Amino acid sequence: MTHTFDPVGECIYCGQTADLTDEHILPYALGGRIVLPQSSCRRCARITGQFEGAVLRGSMRAARAVAGYPTRRPRERPAQVEFRVLSGDSVESVLRDRDNAPAFFLLPMFEPPRYTSGQPYGRGVNICGIETIQFGADPRVVADELGSDGFQIQQVVQATELARLVAKAGYAFYVASNGVFPRSESPVLPMILEGKDDGANWVGSVPYTLNVETQHPTHAMAAGQELQNDGSVFGLARVKLFSECGATGYEVVVRAPGWEDYVPTA
Ligand SMILES: [Zn+2]
Repeated sequence: MTHTFDPVGECIYCGQTADLTDEHILPYALGGRIVLPQSSCRRCARITGQFEGAVLRGSMRAARAVAGYPTRRPRERPAQVEFRVLSGDSVESVLRDRDNAPAFFLLPMFEPPRYTSGQPYGRGVNICGIETIQFGADPRVVADELGSDGFQIQQVVQATELARLVAKAGYAFYVASNGVFPRSESPVLPMILEGKDDGANWVGSVPYTLNVETQHPTHAMAAGQELQNDGSVFGLARVKLFSECGATGYEVVVRAPGWEDYVPTA
């Protein structure tokens, strides 16, 4: 079921008002069903599409095919997917029809956003764990059928691209829910648009449960205002990819006036 917000009338990333496109807050190819009309210019859509595409056509490719997520390029969808099984000391590659295969996606967990955890300003994104999200056929059944002991999962974890995808979804969902605000107040626009490597401060994994999860959506999102330790108000979005698979969610600091001065000491 698609949910469509009211049209924005300007690019939420750069402010341009001409030549606007509709924005899927989470990628269509991930089953994203929330649309923010007239909210991205073509230039910004190209930028966001690049890092989203890197994840979707990279480490997510087999999982998307097995899970049956929508695709705009059905002829490019693999009919069979490959996975590796372990038997004793040996590893064997198996090719199966996508309807009857297991697929795995390694979802990185990041340290909580430093802005909310009170840690000193940091660079990059810091992976503190990996969650294995499983799609398609039950791996235990498949292992039994093949007489194997288990699976070997090898995947490049596209952490930077995924952090940008999460930041973008959080930012867009916040704007959809709360309206546009001065773009200079958003600490995540530089990482979304320019790939600035300061995501550790604004994007991270935090355990929580959202009300909407009782409806078992593929992904769950929420956005609202929170209080910083010093009493200042900031805007936070929660983005839980694969919530129905039990994944830990991400938090995104979307709006924090004065964020450029955030350099706390330990
Ligand atoms: Zn733009």
